[in-house]
Amino acid sequence: MPSFDYDLLIVGGGPVGASLALALASQPLRIGIIELSPQQSNIDSRALALAFGSFRIMDSIGYWADIAQEATPIEHIHISNRGYFGITHLDSTQIHLPALGYVVKMGFLNQAIYQRLKDFSQIELIRPAKVIQIQNRSNHTQVQITLNSEIHTLSAQLLIAADGAHSVVRQLLQVPVYKKDYDQTAIITNIETEHPHQFTAFERFTDTGPLALLPLAKNYSNVVWTVKSSQAPYLIEIKDEEFLSKLQDRFGNRLGKFIHADQRYAFPLQLIKTRQLISDRVVFIGNAAHNLHPVAGQGFNLGLRDIAALAEVLTNAHRQSQDLGNQAVLATYKQWRQWDHRIVTQFTDTLIHLFSNNYPLWGLSRGLGLATLDIFPPFKKVLMQQAIGLMGQQPRLVQGLSL
Ligand SMILES: Cc1cc2nc3c(=O)[nH]c(=O)nc-3n(C[C@H](O)[C@H](O)[C@H](O)COP(=O)(O)OP(=O)(O)OC[C@H]3O[C@@H](n4cnc5c(N)ncnc54)[C@H](O)[C@@H]3O)c2cc1C
Repeated sequence: MPSFDYDLLIVGGGPVGASLALALASQPLRIGIIELSPQQSNIDSRALALAFGSFRIMDSIGYWADIAQEATPIEHIHISNRGYFGITHLDSTQIHLPALGYVVKMGFLNQAIYQRLKDFSQIELIRPAKVIQIQNRSNHTQVQITLNSEIHTLSAQLLIAADGAHSVVRQLLQVPVYKKDYDQTAIITNIETEHPHQFTAFERFTDTGPLALLPLAKNYSNVVWTVKSSQAPYLIEIKDEEFLSKLQDRFGNRLGKFIHADQRYAFPLQLIKTRQLISDRVVFIGNAAHNLHPVAGQGFNLGLRDIAALAEVLTNAHRQSQDLGNQAVLATYKQWRQWDHRIVTQFTDTLIHLFSNNYPLWGLSRGLGLATLDIFPPFKKVLMQQAIGLMGQQPRLVQGLSL
C-alpha cells in the first residue's frame, strides 16, 4: 500500500468530526483533523438532547464517562399544542430503559472531547487551518490548506467533510444541496423555574413556532424558542423580566413561575441537505450532510449515527486491506445512512409545517393527532423508537459493542 501523510483527513473538528476521530482511535490509522478555529468554544449556549442510542455510541467510543456527571436524564417527554386540546406523554418506563435520553451542554461536550483527543498520538489536530483546494488523484486525495499563513499540501486515502452546515468542502467540490430557509430563528437561553422539571423535556407547539424546554441541573431548563426571524432581535434585546413574561405566556404554568433567564442567543434556522453523501474519495457527515431545524433535537444524534456507521465501514475495509477511499467502501456507507437521513429530515420538516401555523382547523387536527398518539400504543412505540434513536439497522457502536 502506498504511503500518504494520513489514512484519513477530517475537515472540521466540531462535535461530529472530533467524535469520529475518537471512534476510530482504537484502530491503527493515522488521522488528521483540520479545524478552522484556534480553539474550541466551551461557552456554546446550546444544550443537546441526546437520544438513548447516542448515549450508547458515546459510551462505546469511550467519552461518556467524562460527561456523565454533567448529563441530565430525560425520563419523560411531554408534547402539547398551545390553545388546543391534545397532549402526549412518552415515558422511559414504557420501554424499560433508565432514560429516553440525556441533556448535555454543548460547551461541556466540546471540552470533554478535546481533553480525550490528547490521549491519542496518532490523531493530529491541525489548527487554525483552512482548506483551500482539494484534488483527487487515482489512489489518494490531496488537500491544500493554509496554516499560520503558509500553504501546505496534505495527502490521505479519504477526506471526511465534517465542516458544518456551510461546508467549504462541499463548495470546493461543487456538490449540490437542497436548501430551505424557514424564516425562523431559535432563541436559546437557560431559565430557572419555580417547580422542578422532574426530568421532563417539554415540546410545546404554538402558532408562532415550537418551544422546547430541556431539563438541566436543579430547577434549570434549556429553552429553545423558535420564533419568526423578524421577532428575534426584539426578543434578544428586551429586559429579562419582559422576556420571561412573554416566554411564560407561550409555555403556561406547568413549571410554575419563570424566575431567571441567562444570556440569550439567536440561531437562524435552515434546512440544508447535501444531494450527494459521497463523492470521489470524499464522504459527508454531520451538519455538512444534513443541517436540520432543531425542533426534534435530531441533528447531532443523526451525526453520531453517521459516525457509528462510517467507523464500522472503515474498520472493516482496513482489516481487509482495502483502499479506504474506494467507491465500493463509500457506497456501503451511503447505502447504510441514506434511509435514516431521509426519514429524520422529512419527519423534522413535516413537524415544522404541521405545527407552525395558526389555522384553527389545523390546530384541531394537531390536537386530535396528539390525543390519538397518546391512546394508541403502537403509534407511540414508533415515536419512541425514533426519539431514542434505535430505529433501523444498528451499527456495533449503537449496540454497545466495540468495532
Ligand atoms: C438551537 C439549536 C439547538 C440544537 N439542539 C440539538 C439537540 O437538542 N440535539 C441534537 O442532536 N442536535 C441539536 N442541534 C444540532 C447540533 O447542534 C448539530 O447537529 C451539531 O452541532 C453538528 O455538529 P457538526 O460537528 O456536524 O457541525 P458543527 O458543530 O457546525 O462543527 C463544524 C466544525 O467545522 C469547523 N469548520 C467550519 N468550516 C471549516 C473549514 N473551512 N475548515 C476547517 N474547519 C471548518 C468549525 O469551526 C466547527 O468546529 C441543535 C442546533 C441548534 C442550532
